[in-house]
Amino acid sequence: MQRDFSFELTYQDAQTHARCGIIHTPHGDIETPAFVPVGTQATVKSLNVDELKELNVHMFFVNTYHMYLRPGLDVIQTFGGLHHFMGWDRPIITDSGGFQIFSLGRKKYSHSLNQLGSIAVPAGRQDSRNQVVERDQNASPVLVKISDDGVEFQSHWDGTKHVFTPERSMEYQWILGSDIHIAFDDCTPYGVKYEKAKRSMERTHAWAKRSLIRHQELSKNPAVAKALAGNQEPGTKNKELSSKNKVYQALYGSIQGSVFEELRKTSAAFITSLPFDGFAIGGVSVGESKEEMQNVLDWVMPMLPEDKPRHLLGVGEIDDIFALIEHGVDTFDCVQPTRLARVGRLYSFGEDKKPCEVDITKAVYAHDKGPNDEGCQCYTCTHVTRGYLHHLFKTRELLGYRLATIHNIFWIQSLVSQIRLAIREGRLVALKNAWL
Ligand SMILES: [Zn+2]
Repeated sequence: MQRDFSFELTYQDAQTHARCGIIHTPHGDIETPAFVPVGTQATVKSLNVDELKELNVHMFFVNTYHMYLRPGLDVIQTFGGLHHFMGWDRPIITDSGGFQIFSLGRKKYSHSLNQLGSIAVPAGRQDSRNQVVERDQNASPVLVKISDDGVEFQSHWDGTKHVFTPERSMEYQWILGSDIHIAFDDCTPYGVKYEKAKRSMERTHAWAKRSLIRHQELSKNPAVAKALAGNQEPGTKNKELSSKNKVYQALYGSIQGSVFEELRKTSAAFITSLPFDGFAIGGVSVGESKEEMQNVLDWVMPMLPEDKPRHLLGVGEIDDIFALIEHGVDTFDCVQPTRLARVGRLYSFGEDKKPCEVDITKAVYAHDKGPNDEGCQCYTCTHVTRGYLHHLFKTRELLGYRLATIHNIFWIQSLVSQIRLAIREGRLVALKNAWL
């Protein structure tokens, strides 16, 4: 199998740790730093793939947990992977499923399984990564039981029981066929004590090794089908996995350790000692302050090897973007731009020329003939008025969600594109000062 995944560092900023590069994948290149929109259910809501390409999206994020439950991996396998299923021929990144299991679940202590103890996760907790707003509000409470072997949980849709292990997570992502996979990790919620965070980090490290072993077996062994035949899951029944026509799929190790310096550094040292293709920083954007998130980056980023790509999971609000890029993050995913768009909040600039969110549902915009953002060249800002957008949102017309999503993605892409240029021209700090 051709191992055509690599990272090319093209420019290093002299004043900060920001860098420009290119991630080469079998489905094309990703110019970094790059914002990665989230397409939880195999769709960046309301946009088709050609529109995403016009918006200069080179990779988007799909959640393994959601694909596993619906449509089910047997369906994805029938279509030959997510790329064919969605009609998207550019790179895809998937997560391990762990974060969704933990964030959509409600943990319950189990003497037989749970050695970590009970951690309360409010079922309706919202943060910038989990998908609670898309959850069926009438769904029954779900349970999550953690053991060193893996995680047992109940579907947030129908209450059926399922088990994810590091090995299964690798197999599921292999079936999805995403270009970048993430190792299965134990995601602690914000606020856990040191001892629990340490226990969770140790489990993440054990799972990282198991993920890597399974991933390497899947990547190297053309007779993978045989190995999986005895390990059939509801999602893979009656189907054999085949390496035929499979291109190389990369695996990123996940660094955990909550908000504790010692744990984060231990985790960075351990995970980077393993031969992963890149590294993901997990366990952020789970309720910690922005200062705490930046502390994590301060501790972890200098320990990561320069020649491999780094992904920050679930962070990407406007005021985070400069900070994370200055720390040397290459790619980052965030639901914020698309989620805000669907509630009528569009990025723009205020009278002070600083970034702001316009709540287009406010009555003040009903007669506004101006565009959402004078300087924006997106389809929405060059074709429709604030007054029309206001009307679409007040009447809950689908076009409103589409137009707002187009604008917010374009706007973020434009910012990140300006940042890439500024890094290459040595004026990143000046650009930041002009923006923030
Ligand atoms: Zn626009």
